[in-house]
Amino acid sequence: MAIRSSATAEDLPEASFAGQQDTFLHVSGDDEVIEYIRKCWASLFEARAIFYREENDFEHSKVYIAVVVQKMANADKAGVMFTVNPSTGEEIALIEGSWGLGESVVSGDVTPDNYQVDKKDNEIINVTISDKKVMYTNDEKGTSVKVDVPEDKRKERVLSDDELIELTEMGKRVQAHYGEPMDTEWAFEKDMLFLLQARPITTLGNASEDARDASSDLGDVLVRGLGASPGMASGTVKIILDIDELDKIKDGDIMVTTMTTPDMVPAMRRASGIVTDEGGVTCHASIISRELGIPCVVGTGDATSTLEENTGVTLDGKKGLVFDGISENKEEATAVAGTVEAAPIITVTEVKANVSMPEAAEKAAATGADGVGLLRTEHLMLTSGIHPGKFIADGNEDELIDTIADNVQIVADAFYPKPVWYRTLDAPTDEFITLEGGENEPREHNPMLGWRGIRRELDQPEILKCEFRAIKKLHEKGYTNIGIMIPLSQSPEELKQAKALCSEVGFEPHKDVDFGMMVEIPAAAIMIDEYIKVGIDFVSLGTNDLTQYTLAVDRNNEFVAKHYTEEHPAVMKLIERTIRKCAEAGVTCSICGQAGSVPHIVEKLVGYGITSVSSNTDAIADVRKTVARAEQKIILDAARKRLE
Ligand code: PEP
Ligand code: MG
Repeated sequence: MAIRSSATAEDLPEASFAGQQDTFLHVSGDDEVIEYIRKCWASLFEARAIFYREENDFEHSKVYIAVVVQKMANADKAGVMFTVNPSTGEEIALIEGSWGLGESVVSGDVTPDNYQVDKKDNEIINVTISDKKVMYTNDEKGTSVKVDVPEDKRKERVLSDDELIELTEMGKRVQAHYGEPMDTEWAFEKDMLFLLQARPITTLGNASEDARDASSDLGDVLVRGLGASPGMASGTVKIILDIDELDKIKDGDIMVTTMTTPDMVPAMRRASGIVTDEGGVTCHASIISRELGIPCVVGTGDATSTLEENTGVTLDGKKGLVFDGISENKEEATAVAGTVEAAPIITVTEVKANVSMPEAAEKAAATGADGVGLLRTEHLMLTSGIHPGKFIADGNEDELIDTIADNVQIVADAFYPKPVWYRTLDAPTDEFITLEGGENEPREHNPMLGWRGIRRELDQPEILKCEFRAIKKLHEKGYTNIGIMIPLSQSPEELKQAKALCSEVGFEPHKDVDFGMMVEIPAAAIMIDEYIKVGIDFVSLGTNDLTQYTLAVDRNNEFVAKHYTEEHPAVMKLIERTIRKCAEAGVTCSICGQAGSVPHIVEKLVGYGITSVSSNTDAIADVRKTVARAEQKIILDAARKRLE
C-alpha cells in the first residue's frame, strides 16, 4: 500500500503543506498499514512541521491531517499533470509522463514526454516525445530501483490518445472539486489510472493571483462571457443601446453594450470596464480594451438585458465574469491590469507591438518592443469622426492626408528609429457606418466576408492614394522607419495594383518604402509563392481573419465562438507553410493576429522560423520570455544533437 498524508489548516484551505508530512510507499500487511498511519499522524508533530507552523503563523491545534491509504501503484507509466498551463493559466491540461514509477519525472532524472490537451474539446494539441533513458521499478522486496529503459522503449510515446483523454477528464474533475487549477501526480498500472496527489498550482502569474484575491469579496456572478482584456474593474452599469447614449458614460462607469463600434472609443476610454453581448476575443471591443488597458468581458449573450442600469458590478476581464456589487479591491486590481513592464531580455526573433490608437503608442514603446508590427489605421481615422470617403467627396483630400500623417507620426515618433508597419485601411462597412458621412455604407449580409481590406481600397483608390501620400509625407520629414502593409488580400493581382497606385503618387515600393502584406485569407497562404514573385519586403500573419476564413467561423459571432481556435490543425498548417515559404525566400515573416500574444503558440512559431512576433502591449513581456526560451531550446537541441 501507499500511505500518504495530507495536511490542511482551518480557514486556510490554500495553505500549502507540501512535503511537510510524511508519505510511506511499499507498505504491506495490516500491522504495517496501522503502524504507518500512526507515523503519518505523528509527522504532524515533527520538528520541521512545528517549525513550519511557527514560521507561517498557523495555530498548532487548527492544523489537521488526513491519511490516504491507497493501493501501491506498480506504475507502468507515471508523471504529472497541471490542470491549466502553469505559466500562462490557459485552460489546457499539461501532462508529462515517463516509463515506470513517477519518481523519474518528479526527481528530474528523465526528460519526460510532454503533452497538451485542450480541455474544451479534449483535442490533443501537442505531443513531444523525448528520449527517456532511465526509469524506476519495484524490486522483489518492493523497494524502488533505478534501471535503464530498454532501448526499444526509450523513444516510444508513453501515453496513447485515449489515456491522455482519460487523464484530462480526471484533471477537469480534480479542478472542479477544488475550484482552482491543480498540480497532480498520476500513474497507470496496466489500464488502471491512479490519481496519486493534487495540490494547488502555486506558480500562476501575479495577475491571476491578484484577480483571485480581489474576487474574494465579490457577490454572485450575474453574467458570464469570454475574458477579453485582463484585470478587475468595478463601477456603475451604463447600458448603451444607441450611439446617442454615449454621454451617459462618466469616468469609471462600466459600459454595457451589444458590441462596441469605433466611434464609441472616446466613451470606452472613460469607462473602467466594458461588457458586451456579442463578440469573441478578436472583436473590436477586445482589441481596443486590451490596448487601453481596460478590463473587458465579451460574448456574454445577454448582458444588456440581464444587467441593471445604475447598479454596481465588478468584472473580471481574465475569467470573463461579471459579479454583483462593487469590489473593495478594485483599485489595486485595476492597477495590475494597467501596469506594463519592460523586460530586459534580448531575443533574435523580434518582439513588436500592435498599436491601434496613437495615445497608446508611448505605453507600447515603454515595453521596449522592437517596433510596431501592426498599426491599425481604422482607429486613427476615428479621431476625426469623419468617414474617409467624405473627405474625398468634399474635396478635402489634404485634410485626410494630414489627419493620417499627424496620427501616424505620433506612433512613428514613439518608436523611432524602430520600424512601424502602417496597415492601409481595413474598413468593414458595419464599423464605418456610424461615422459622419458613413450613412452611405452598404448594408451587407456578412460584413466580415464583405467590402473591406485591400479589395475595398482598390475600388476606392482615392482613399488608398491619400494614405500612400501621408506615409510619403512622413518619409520626407525623416520618418523613414514607416513601412506599408496591405490587408486582406486574396490574389497577387491586388498586390500588383496596390504597388502601382503607390508608384503613381511618386512613392516607389521597395525602393522608397518597405512594402508588405498581411496573410489573412487562406488563398494568400496557399499562394504565398506567387506573391513573393510579385515582390514583397515582408509578410504578417493576420491570424484573426485567417482563422475565421479557414474555419468558417465569424469572429464576431458569440454563437460560434467555441469553434474559433487558431490552434486548429488546418490554421496551424497554413501558418507553418507561410513562415517556411517566406524563410526559404528570405522574406521577413511576422504575425500580428491574437495568436501572436499567446505564448504557447508563439513557441511553435519560433520553431517554424518566424522573423518577428507582434503582440498586444499587455502580452509583450510574457511573449518575449517565451521567445527567448524557445530560441535557447533550439540552440540547446542542436548542440545536443551534435554531441550524440
Ligand atoms: C488579423 O486579422 O489577425 C489582424 C491582425 O487584423 P484585424 O484583427 O485588424 O482584422
Ligand atoms: Mg484582419
